[in-house]
Formats: sequence, structure tokens, C-alpha cells
Amino acid sequence: MDFEHFEIDDDKLDMPEPNKFFDSLVRNAIDFLKKSVIELEKSPKYSVIHFYAAIELFLKARLLSEHWTLIVSDINKVQKKKDETILTKFKAGDFISVGLKKCIERLRDTCEVKIPVKAVDYFDQLRKHRNKMVQFYHPDYSEITSLATIVPEQWSAWYHLHRLIVDDWWDHFQEYQDEIEDLYGLVHGNWKYLEAKYNEIRPQIESEKREGVTFNKCSLCGYESAKFEDFYGLVYSNSCLVCHNQNNKIHIPCPECEKEIIIKDQGIGECSKCGFETDFEFLLSKIGHYQDPKEDPEVAYCAECEHSEPSVIPVGEYDDEGLCLNCNTLHGYEGQCHYCGELVAGMDLESSYSFGCMLCKGSFGADNS
Ligand SMILES: [Zn+2]
Ligand SMILES: [Zn+2]
Ligand SMILES: [Zn+2]
Ligand SMILES: [Zn+2]
Repeated sequence: MDFEHFEIDDDKLDMPEPNKFFDSLVRNAIDFLKKSVIELEKSPKYSVIHFYAAIELFLKARLLSEHWTLIVSDINKVQKKKDETILTKFKAGDFISVGLKKCIERLRDTCEVKIPVKAVDYFDQLRKHRNKMVQFYHPDYSEITSLATIVPEQWSAWYHLHRLIVDDWWDHFQEYQDEIEDLYGLVHGNWKYLEAKYNEIRPQIESEKREGVTFNKCSLCGYESAKFEDFYGLVYSNSCLVCHNQNNKIHIPCPECEKEIIIKDQGIGECSKCGFETDFEFLLSKIGHYQDPKEDPEVAYCAECEHSEPSVIPVGEYDDEGLCLNCNTLHGYEGQCHYCGELVAGMDLESSYSFGCMLCKGSFGADNS
């Protein structure tokens, strides 16, 4: 399904041509995103499809702003008659455009545009979800169309794209400031659909409360559904049963006076009693080797915060979880990048062969270099 038709607004006719194409893609992206938000409750399936289309169009627009030919998937395969040029085919929308993977690969490798691995992960998750919707009748249909699955997924992808747009790509997108602000509000407004999920799990929350479990207000969705736990006597965790947001703080006894030090992130903390200060290096030496001091622990790279050195230490009875000492994320899985073989945590390893990890460019990047 391609969405490039380059319908040019009448008042944009004086624009230089590349800007017109860019404008057309961005307007389409905005339109699809709006549609997706409106459709969410009544037709979650189309919401997923249109949301993904919008994200892809924003990325393509960014690629097109480098050069229009870059969004043509394979310029040598554009079928044209004698009197036609690639540009005429392009203007007619009669060409195969890059998909998500190729688009990201070209942005990164041809144009040196930085896109964090975690963002790619979220975009790709949307792509997979959308493909399931389009291609198969899915047995878990109610599961994959559940708003409790869709809302956090869309938010995470949009949050990362929005950050790229406003922080890194503002020169290209600033003309659409009002529309982009509106979109932010609209997508954020989707959280209200999680109320049903909250009501559904409320009895469970109430019963756990009676057994002494504490629930706090979730910092992301705002419901009082963040279950408080102390993992491994090392991490105070609030994990939300509605939106799955996780908020963790590492806690250790002060090496000088035993009072508890709470560490928010980057290993930085201070003892409120004696003033002892901690940092990342200290934490790594203090708790990174706690299991067996003789053996080097397998410290992995973290895809969540992309810290420049390995920061995820194994935790749990069987070392089957990982804790990042830089961003405090508890990772359920870690493993080797299928492309470069480095140990990484917190990313989809399945797509690591194509996209790579934060240490490599994957096969797509290597093919083109
Ligand atoms: Zn939440
Ligand atoms: Zn102290
Ligand atoms: Zn991290
Ligand atoms: Zn890698």
C-alpha cells in the first residue's frame, strides 16, 4: 500500500518542486495520524494501519528532504516509456517507494541521520502489528486489537518520532508546528481509552491491595495501577498494569554509614546522612560483580538508554533478567545481536540481523557501505 500521490495544495503552487513533494508527504502523514486517532475506538484495525502509514510517511518525508530520488526503492527498476523521465513517473506517484527498513537504512547510512535503536524498535513493532492486521486473519484478533495493546504501542512510536522531529529535524518540520502540536495532543488523548482496561483490572488491584501490595499512580497513564515491588532487594519498581510503563530506582546501603541511598539514574545518588556520592563506575564495581567475584559477569549493552559502555548486569535467581545501571531498566531478555554478536539487552533480537544494534548497522547497513 503506497500513499504517495503528491496532491499539491493550490496555495503551494509557487513552491520549488522538492518542497511541494515534501509538503504533500507531510500533509498526508498528518492526515493519516488524525484519522488513526479518530478511528481508534470504533475501528482499531484501521487505526493500526493508518497510524503506521503516518509514521512511515513522516520518515519518508525526512528522507525526501535530502533528495527526492532517495524515496524511490530502486531507481533502476522504474518502468518508463521513451518520452518519460524518472521525475515524471515520480510526480505521478507511479513508482515503488522505500519501505520502513530501507528508509531507515538510507537515513542512517546515506544521510547520516541518527535514529536511536529503541525508536526503530517501536516503529518496527508498529509495522509488524500492521502486517498482522493486513495480511492474516489473526486468531488472537481480540488480543492484537485490544486498546490496551495499541495505545501504549502507538504512543511509544509517536513519542520517539516526535522527539526526532522537534529536537533533531525541526529545520525541516517547523512550518508544521501547529499541526504537530495538535497531533501530540490528539495521540496523548488516546490514553483515555485505557479507562476500560483500568476498570477491568480494578478488582485484581483491590484484592492485591488487601493483601498488602502497594499501588502508586503511574507516571505515564496516570491511573493508580503502578504496582510497587522491591526486586532482588536492589530495585524499587513501579510497573503499571494498564500501560506497562516501568519506573525503577536502584537502592543500596551506603558503604560508609549503612543508610539507604536511592539512585534515580546514571548511577548518581547521594547518602542523605553522610553525603557519600555514587556514580556509574561505583555501582558497576559494587553490584556488577556481586554473584561470583572470581568470574567476570556478562555485562550487556542497553538498547533503552544506549549507554556507550556495557551497563546491563545479570540479576535474578538464574541470572535470567538484566538491570541497566545507567537507566535502571529491568530487561526481561538479553542476547547476542544476530549481526555483530555483541551482548545486548532490551531490543528485538529478531530484527537485529537487518537493523543491527547500537554497535553495528546490521546487514542492511553493511550491504550499502
Ligand atoms: Zn500506566
Ligand atoms: Zn552514608
Ligand atoms: Zn539502560
Ligand atoms: Zn550488532
